[in-house]
Amino acid sequence: MNTPTEAPPDGRREGASIRLAGLAKSYGTVAALCGVDLEVGAGELVTIVGPSGSGKSTILRLIAGLERPDAGQVVVDGQDVVDVPPHRRSVAMVFQDYALYPHLTVRDNLRFGLRVRRVARAEADRRAEAAARRLDIAELLDRHPDEMSGGQRQRVALARALVRDPSVYLLDEPLASLDTQLRITTRSDLLAIHRQLGTTTLHVTHDQAEAMTMGDRVVIVEGGRVRQVGPPQEVYDAPADTFVARFLGSPAMNLTPGGGVLGHPEDSVAGVRPEDLTIDDDGPIEATVEAVEALGSEAVLLTRCGDGTALAVRTGPRPDVRPGDPIRLRASPDRIHRFDARTGLRR
Ligand code: ADP
Ligand code: MG
Repeated sequence: MNTPTEAPPDGRREGASIRLAGLAKSYGTVAALCGVDLEVGAGELVTIVGPSGSGKSTILRLIAGLERPDAGQVVVDGQDVVDVPPHRRSVAMVFQDYALYPHLTVRDNLRFGLRVRRVARAEADRRAEAAARRLDIAELLDRHPDEMSGGQRQRVALARALVRDPSVYLLDEPLASLDTQLRITTRSDLLAIHRQLGTTTLHVTHDQAEAMTMGDRVVIVEGGRVRQVGPPQEVYDAPADTFVARFLGSPAMNLTPGGGVLGHPEDSVAGVRPEDLTIDDDGPIEATVEAVEALGSEAVLLTRCGDGTALAVRTGPRPDVRPGDPIRLRASPDRIHRFDARTGLRR
């Protein structure tokens, strides 16, 4: 493992590989993680996505060493680091609430972690300024956190991770509190930084759209367990279970219980995404339009079939239908997903 006081080499560096094995953590009676296995290759950018309370932050805190697992291993570059204190791990974590020191200027916030690690002052200054330039906050170096917007504070928090020049970045919902526009710019900044540095990055989000657009692979967690790992499009096209099927995609995949309108065995659940249903006068599915949501570039029809099944249908903009209209639908046959009714697992 790299010692944190090492001077950063110029140009691209290889990040560390990470392997989590059987990781478990409880807080009192709350099981935050129940046996998490995950392998992240050196230099990879992986997004961890899941609903609130699913264990995302706990995974990052265990890798950073801020918490100790009850069981399992955290292996960084081949070494089990469970007994290594946080400041000896070459890992930098960015928190959703920034965690900046309010009484320090941006410059001092950036230099703080380096002083603790005994980096020489001139070197610390050089790194602070380089990181500030990269995140476009160079003009803020002499301000205090309370003199900045939330978006600027989040950039300072990211810059503070950059100056550490770690082997691993752990980003805990760094974009969650930004407005839409800023979220999109900061997202592409993060991707550019990752392309340039090649440092292993675990990026946590609860936003499924962000998970789809960032990362070589996406990890879906729920209830302290990993539900599925894979490239975003692969997971979207072949969700491992009904939870993943509903979690990725908006509007969510339509799921119909056994023997329903998608025509499938009683002991299964069938699913079809709103974009895989089309209005077709000869289509086999009869439904009634209940609502039309115009989204500008597209529209979503909320429809209901005779047996009570609700189906969302994605159409082009300005569809020629009104609430109350009867319509017929067709599902692309190769786009119908099947899950086991009892386990929810993909068949
Ligand atoms: P996420 O980041 O996905 O929202 P967390 O990893 O923060 O989820 O939390 C996972 C579970 O562990 C939640 O049920 C949460 O309430 C619980 N938890 C996390 N930290 C603590 C703590 N310090 N004390 C008690 N419960 C905690
Ligand atoms: Mg969290």
